[in-house]
Amino acid sequence: MTEISRRGLLLVMSSPSGAGKTTLSRRLLAADSNIAMSVSVTTRPPRPGEVNGRDYHFITQDEFARLRDRGDLLEYAEVFGNFYGTPKRPVLEALQAGRDVLFDIDWQGTQQLAQAMPEDLVRIFILPPSAEELRERLIGRAQDSSATVAKRMAKAADEISHWPEYDYIVINDELDLASAEIYAILRAERLRRRRRVGLTQFVRELTKDL
Ligand code: 5GP
Repeated sequence: MTEISRRGLLLVMSSPSGAGKTTLSRRLLAADSNIAMSVSVTTRPPRPGEVNGRDYHFITQDEFARLRDRGDLLEYAEVFGNFYGTPKRPVLEALQAGRDVLFDIDWQGTQQLAQAMPEDLVRIFILPPSAEELRERLIGRAQDSSATVAKRMAKAADEISHWPEYDYIVINDELDLASAEIYAILRAERLRRRRRVGLTQFVRELTKDL
C-alpha cells in the first residue's frame, strides 16, 4: 500500500460533564493505535484510583509556575482554583512523528491551542441530546444532592455556550453512532493536504515519467 507520510494532528474533544466524552475518548483510543492521550500536569491532588503519569502528572504549584515560566506548556488554565496545563514537548514530538494527540481540555485551553497551532488543531464539541438526558446522566453518575446536580446543570449551560468555537459538533444520542462520527472526522482530517507532507515527493515521482 502506498503510504504518504504526514504530520500528526491535535484532536480536542470538549463537552459539558455528563455528555459522554470520557466513554467516547476511550473508544477512540481503543479503536486506533495512532492516537494517544495528552497527559496534562495539574496542581490538584489525585482522586482515588488516579495514577500519576497516566491520568495526570500531579505537581506542586511551584513546579507548575516553573514549567509555565520556562515556556514548557503549550497552554494552561485555572479551573476551580487548580492549575492545569499541557506539556509542550511530547505534543511536538508526536506531530513530527505523524502521530495524533487527543486532548481533554476545557474551552480556555482550546482557545490557546487554536492561537498557538491553528493548522494542527481539530476541535470537536460533544452535546447531549437533551437537557432531560443530561440531567439523568448527571444524577446517574453519583448520589449527589439535587442542589449539586442543579449546580452541575448550570455549569453545563456555561460550557455549552462555547459550542460555536468548535469545528465539529457531535450529538451523543446513540454511543455507536457518535463514535462512528468522531472516527469519520479523524479519518477525513488525516487526509488533509497540508498534513500530508509526503505528497510533494509522491507527486514528483508520479509525474516524472508522464
Ligand atoms: P478534572 O480536575 O475533573 O480532571 O478536570 C477539570 C477540568 O480541567 C476539565 O474540564 C478538564 O477538561 C480540564 N483540563 C484538564 N487538563 C487540562 C489542561 O491541560 N489544560 C486545560 N486548559 N484544561 C484542562
